Amino acid sequence: MPLRPLDIDPALCLINGQWQPPAGGATLPLTNPSDGSALCEIARGTAEDIDRAVAAATAARAGAWGRATALERGRILSRIGALVLENADELARLEALDVGKPLKQALADVNALARYMEFYAGAVDKLHGTTIPYLDGYTVYTLREAHGVTGHIIPWNYPMQIIGRSVGAALATGNAAVLKPAEEACLTALAFGELARRAGLPDGALNVVPGLGAEAGAALAGHPGVQHVSFTGSVGVGKLIQKAAGDNVVPVTLELGGKSPQLVFDDADIDAALPFLVNAGIQNAGQTCSASSRILVQRGVYDRVVSAMAERYAALRVGPALSDLDVGPLISTRQRDIVRGFLERGSDLEIAAQATLGDLPENGAYVAPTLFAGVAADHPLAQDEIFGPVQVIIPFEDEAEALAIANGTDYGLVASVWTRDGARQMRLARALHAGQVFLNNYGAGGGVELPFGGTGLSGHGREKGFEALYGFTSLKTVAAFHG
Ligand code: ADP
Repeated sequence: MPLRPLDIDPALCLINGQWQPPAGGATLPLTNPSDGSALCEIARGTAEDIDRAVAAATAARAGAWGRATALERGRILSRIGALVLENADELARLEALDVGKPLKQALADVNALARYMEFYAGAVDKLHGTTIPYLDGYTVYTLREAHGVTGHIIPWNYPMQIIGRSVGAALATGNAAVLKPAEEACLTALAFGELARRAGLPDGALNVVPGLGAEAGAALAGHPGVQHVSFTGSVGVGKLIQKAAGDNVVPVTLELGGKSPQLVFDDADIDAALPFLVNAGIQNAGQTCSASSRILVQRGVYDRVVSAMAERYAALRVGPALSDLDVGPLISTRQRDIVRGFLERGSDLEIAAQATLGDLPENGAYVAPTLFAGVAADHPLAQDEIFGPVQVIIPFEDEAEALAIANGTDYGLVASVWTRDGARQMRLARALHAGQVFLNNYGAGGGVELPFGGTGLSGHGREKGFEALYGFTSLKTVAAFHG
């Protein structure tokens, strides 16, 4: 099935600027999670394809791409961003079919991808080194240099956003990238490769090799020709990636999800908080690393928040991605069954609300968004990342208890505080274990400018914003003695 309007064959890999079949000639089926129908076949890339991709990237670094100035790289990124916007509707459609996300949410991802290109295009020629005062007769300065070949292993939940934040920053800084998209959703990654090619990115600067995690993914993570690996996905695989990269002593950036809390105090503007409390849990059917799956509510407003959230849950409309409702299917029936398993583990809990599933395609991967209330902070549903449209509400008495509960998981990605008390905002912003803290909002619209990443099991390293440009470069100190 050629992907309109780019006319690329998803059963091919993009290696060295050429679309080519995977070395083993094998393919994998891609399924539309909205109804279980077959979408197309994608390439099943192998270690051999990763070898070829790394060789092409190495050659690109040694050639014109390695010598391109920040200005030239930025201009190419700008062109990619423009092409992304020109093809916005088609990219959104592909993502909706492939991931199952409602069209509006897919279109938001397209816009985020374009924004990453614009941001990094404009930022990279402002990436300066420093001069360092030193001994008499010396001039010392620092250079920021590309790592070389970067590996990008990405998940299926936000392919375009994650390509934007990791591949975008890597290319901006002059690295040559090998991208291994997820086997469940890789159409927009392939489309991105084609758009980058059309924008004039030199051959080999971006290679896209779809395939299985244990095959193409593992080969990329442990490849001795790769100088940096960025990974977004599960904790278990993140550990494998870190170990594999460790054998080559190369840095990794890991973004492994979370159990992100929102803390709602008695003095909060509840009406302002409500849409954020719910949307941060059900966006992309809860399959979001930074989903807010724990809502901590102070006793004085507890009943009000539970009933207002329940009302919103009851009104949620669930349906196929192209129907563009509030919540689509999960990525697969496998993921649906994992989430159903969590719901069963919550059978001892009070269900505050559950959305009604109407007449849905029989083989779609749907789960009814479910809100649990009165949940103990140590219940498995309040501790484990569910990756589905499920939130728990946990009551608390005071600030100290709220903080202890908020910090009481192994994760630390995002947290938010709803209060009018400025001093409390400042105290909690410092004390919360999280890579991002939001005060009286959640997610800030996902801004590409905002450094993002976690602590604990949420991972380490920062992507997005200017910070990513540091992550995708290494620092060289030059000390010149001139007397
Ligand atoms: P999820 O559970 O959300 O599917 P995973 O962590 O399994 O997340 O997958 C995220 C990405 O990691 C995908 O591109 C997948 O193919 C890849 N992957 C899975 N297993 C491995 C592995 N052993 N080595 C490298 N990459 C892997």
